[in-house]
Formats: sequence, structure tokens, C-alpha cells
Amino acid sequence: MIYLCLAHMSDDGAEQKYVKEAFDTNWVVPMGPNVNGFEQDLADFSNKKTDGEMLDRKVVCLSAGTAAVHLALLACGVQAGDEVCVQSFTFCASSHPITYLGAKPVFIDSERDTWNMDPELLEKAIVERKEATGKYPKAIIPVALYGMPYDCEKIMAVANKYGIPVIEDAAEGMGSRFDGQVLGTFGRFGVLSFNGNKMITTSGGGALICQNAEDANNVMWYATQARDAYPYYEHTAIGYNYRMSNVCAGIGRGQMTVLDAHIAHHKHVQGLYKQLLKDVQGVSLHEQPADPRYDSNFWLCAATLDADVKIVGQENAYKEVIKSAVGGAAGVIKAVESATTDCQPNDNVEALRVFMLAKKVECRPVWKPMHKQPVYADAVAYVNGVSEEIFKVGFCLPAGPYVTDEDVHYIVECIKEAIVK
Ligand SMILES: *Cc1c(COP(=O)(O)O)cnc(C)c1O
Repeated sequence: MIYLCLAHMSDDGAEQKYVKEAFDTNWVVPMGPNVNGFEQDLADFSNKKTDGEMLDRKVVCLSAGTAAVHLALLACGVQAGDEVCVQSFTFCASSHPITYLGAKPVFIDSERDTWNMDPELLEKAIVERKEATGKYPKAIIPVALYGMPYDCEKIMAVANKYGIPVIEDAAEGMGSRFDGQVLGTFGRFGVLSFNGNKMITTSGGGALICQNAEDANNVMWYATQARDAYPYYEHTAIGYNYRMSNVCAGIGRGQMTVLDAHIAHHKHVQGLYKQLLKDVQGVSLHEQPADPRYDSNFWLCAATLDADVKIVGQENAYKEVIKSAVGGAAGVIKAVESATTDCQPNDNVEALRVFMLAKKVECRPVWKPMHKQPVYADAVAYVNGVSEEIFKVGFCLPAGPYVTDEDVHYIVECIKEAIVK
């Protein structure tokens, strides 16, 4: 089976060396030398611009990217009843933490080029929510979907115009750049994820890139149960147990030695798909804008399938209620009664997924926009139709470090075979 993106360790066992060190020195706790070392490595990586200039961001390691979104919102002062503008076309971890705080997401649709937050819709939302509620949204969360940079210049300009902090969700965009600068370093906070399927992994984990030491200290305080400096536990705020384990951080330190190679590989695979899919009628690879400031890590390769393309087995699409996990999905998936919902990928996209699965290739629909999720039925949304349209025609292809050139050739041949001539 060729999976979308699998964890991939360094060849020289650097991860195991750091993990062993954690055991040998008995630092098997959610702090320690590996956590400090990993934070330093991440800061060094994030601070380096391609023109040689150095930034001065601080990094705090946490137990998950979701925890990073949560604490960034908290540090931006988001409280119950507040509103937060968030990209609709994303994985649920971008928006769910808003609800953890009793605040409300205001979903913003995407621009066609990058599939990311539309800056014009964002500004419209900010102005109209102020009129409707008397308050500006408390934060803005753009997302680097599949690694693609959002329009950092325009999003930051809108945010700065209204004095609203930006929390960049760069969970999928680690090492992607805009104008030579790493994503996550533009806003007040930048979210990274080291889940098993991301650009690098700690098995599970995340981090927040912070603008300054004050924010970093505040986040670290909240991540360690918000303790005040007394000999006993004294609490003046509600904190969380969100710090990264020193064992996991050891894996992260090892993974930092292959980060550049991973990014280069993902870009290489994207280039190969581009070359091989060029002549496949009806299939369009999602590419970055021609503007040279865009530099995506191409975490997953995404593409779209024209609605009029017929796929082998299409007449059987959505006929069966799914009984087990889709593709490589992990964890518990709640059983459902029906095979369909009122907003789903086109029949030919579903047929392609099934066809590819039989060929042992994981091919998955793109994220379903949050404003179309039943759980957010009551949320305010500013839509232009782009994310819903892409959801119906989009799909993701394997791109991780284990995907070889031979695999890409095979995958494209399978796609050609799936299309009814
Ligand atoms: C993976 C992901 C996250 C959350 O990361 P976890 O480490 O899995 O909690 C947040 N946002 C996006 C867009 C993601 O893809």
C-alpha cells in the first residue's frame, strides 16, 4: 500500500540516540534537555530567511498542534462569546479549539489560486461582524492547506489594518515560505504539528512559534497548569497539561536532521506529478501561484477531477455504507446509517478513491469545508463557493518520504487506467 504520508525516520538512527539519552539520564518527563534542544532547533530553522537575514522568534513545544491552536487563542485573549475568523477549508483542528474557549468561529472561504483564506472576504467579515456585534473578531487563523502558503502580504495587511492578531496554522506548512520567510513567523503565533503524518513527526506533538519571549513564557505557563511562584501549588488562572514529553522531543531532534531532505522530497514528488499528469485530460494538479514569493512544501499533492470525466466503477459510487475506517484513517470512526451526505465529493472522485484503493494507493478526498460540517451548522460563514466546489472535485495523492519515483509513475498509470476512454 502506498500511503499519503507516513512517518519516516533518519537513516542513521538520530531519533533513537536522543530517545536513549532521555532514558539514560532519566528525563522521561514533559520537560528536559530534548525539549529545550528541539525548541532551539525549531527556532533556528524558523528564524533563518533565505536572504540570510535572521528573525528572533521563540518556540514552545507542546503535546499537539491542536493544543498549540488552543493556547495561541488563549494568549490572544479569546474568551467566551468572542468571535474568531478562521479559514473554512481546513482540518477541524484549526477551528475546534475556538469552541473549547466558548468562542465562535466565523468561517472564511478560500481564494481560487492558493485554496486558502480569501483576504477580501476576511476584510468583509471583519467589517460586518463589527457592525453586527459591536466588537471586532479577536483573532484570525489562516491555514497553509496541504502546505500551500496563504497570501501572507494581504492577510497580514488586513489584520494590521484592524489591529487583530494572526495565528498562522502552519501545521501542514512546516518549512513552506512566503518571500523567503518561513510560515508561522508572520503572525503573532505560528502553529506547527508533529503528528505521525506531518512533514516531521514526534509520534504526536506540536509547537507554537511566538513573536517574543513574553508570549513564549505566557504560553509555557499555561501549558504547565499555570502555576505561580510559591513553594506550594498556587493558581491564579486555569492552565493545561500541554507540554511536550522529553521522549517525544528526542524523536523531534532526530527528525530535524532530515527536515530539509523531507521538504526537498515532497517538492520533487510534486514536480514529477506535474510532469506526468500534464497529458492526463480532466485531471489538474493543484500548483502554487506563479508569483515567485510562494514556496510550498507540497506536504500532500492535491489535484482536481473534472466533473465530466467518467471513472471505472462510477455507477457503484456511494452505494455501500462504510463499515470500517477509510484508507489509512486511524482511531475510532462512528458508524453511520447512510452512505451519503448532502455535501460530498462527486461520484467520479469517490470512484477514483475506490479504484486506487484496489490498486493499493491511498487517494483521499480533500478536507470538507468547516462551514459545511453538521457540527458547525449554526456558525457564521462568509462564502464564495470556492472551497465547496473544490471539495466536490478535489483529491489528495501520496507524497511522503517513502513515495519513490517509481511509485509516482505507477500512481499516474493507475489514474489513467481509471479513466473511461
Ligand atoms: C494536523 C493539523 C493540526 C493539528 O495538529 P495535531 O498535532 O494533529 O493536533 C492543525 N491544523 C491543521 C490544518 C492540521 O492539518
